[in-house]
Amino acid sequence: MLDFKLSEEQEQLIQTARRFAKERIIPVAAEADRKSEFPAGVFEAAWENGLVNCTVPAEYGGLGVGELENTMIVEELAYGCTGIQTSITANTLAATPILLGGSEEQKKKYLGMLTGAPLLAAYATSEPNAGSDVAGMQCTFKKVGDDYVINGSKAWITNAARATWYVIFATDNPASRHKGIAAFIVDRDTPGFRVAKHEDKLGQRASDTCVLSLEDVKVPKANLLAGPGAGFKLAMETFNKTRPDIGAGAVGLMRRCLDECVAYAKERKTFGVPIAQHQMVQHMLAEMAIRIEATQLLVRKAAWALDTNQRSPIVSSCAKAYGADSAMATAIDAVQIFGGNGYTKEYPVEKLMRDAKVLQIYEGTSQIQRMVIAKQILGV
Ligand SMILES: Cc1cc2nc3c(=O)[nH]c(=O)nc-3n(C[C@H](O)[C@H](O)[C@H](O)COP(=O)(O)OP(=O)(O)OC[C@H]3O[C@@H](n4cnc5c(N)ncnc54)[C@H](O)[C@@H]3O)c2cc1C
Repeated sequence: MLDFKLSEEQEQLIQTARRFAKERIIPVAAEADRKSEFPAGVFEAAWENGLVNCTVPAEYGGLGVGELENTMIVEELAYGCTGIQTSITANTLAATPILLGGSEEQKKKYLGMLTGAPLLAAYATSEPNAGSDVAGMQCTFKKVGDDYVINGSKAWITNAARATWYVIFATDNPASRHKGIAAFIVDRDTPGFRVAKHEDKLGQRASDTCVLSLEDVKVPKANLLAGPGAGFKLAMETFNKTRPDIGAGAVGLMRRCLDECVAYAKERKTFGVPIAQHQMVQHMLAEMAIRIEATQLLVRKAAWALDTNQRSPIVSSCAKAYGADSAMATAIDAVQIFGGNGYTKEYPVEKLMRDAKVLQIYEGTSQIQRMVIAKQILGV
């Protein structure tokens, strides 16, 4: 029998995250967006409430919840603001490759840092000329004695400006593509490591996104996370695990759109009646509800598959692509329902529309998800 009933623990987690979004995220989200500034105080409070590093097992100081529970937390935080949620979730993105491929020492040291204090971490595959084409990265490493020396740059890295450590992917030979890619843990204070340009983004402006520059950055062999070739596989396995979180973020954003639209449609009158009584407005509201239900089911199926150790790249990518595309369509409709007011910064829906767009871009664009799905279907 298939059972969709949530456990008491799951309900409690949802309530904690929902309360946090209402009391701590929503009140500061518009200002953080305006200033393009990550609200560090909110992150610290989220950490104190156990809403960060949730999938890190208890033996390393984390909450140790499954992917399913993690998506529930992400969904609630995203209802408050997907920018703030993205920065919180990026710690999970950085922790996942260590959980998947790290040594016991690396897990203890680096995951312990995140669970021992409210610190941020970042994950960096993307480069100015290699986003979708991860295997096309140009950032190189060379083995020098017992160390590795990294040179290059990374682009659009979430939490880059404030992270304490970074998972950096680099290649020993760009021409060998995925076969040359390795992964390293790099401490922020390593000489030659520098946070460069801060991106002035369209949406999710509360999340900090920067370019990283690496010049002769020496990394000890103890910080090698995955050797040449294994690094690429680790990056893909990480995405497989974290893509359902993007779908969960999409559900949170869509729920927010729907709530804002229902309240507005009941108040706003045209032709003598609330716009909620117009069939075409109702149609848009109903479409939002359909997308929310469908995405949430996909996300929960993808998370369940991960929790039960079933390889599920199709479902993970479906949850990400369908969720992201649905969130964009929903946010556009939300602005439509608000009419002219929706196009101004006095109302919350224009931010939701700007925030939704990047869901179709980061952690693999909607086109790349379709490529992943098609390759799996065709077995190529
Ligand atoms: C706010 C934000 C936060 C991010 N955070 C991180 C992070 O923390 N860490 C990290 O490593 N990266 C991060 N990224 C980078 C993100 O993952 C990349 O931007 C994304 O993968 C797309 O790569 P690109 O920008 O180089 O676009 P491109 O790869 O240049 O793609 C451009 C367009 O071409 C399409 N396209 C490309 N190849 C194909 C193909 N084969 N078939 C069909 N269409 C194709 C794409 O879908 C897209 O529409 C972030 C990006 C943003 C905007």
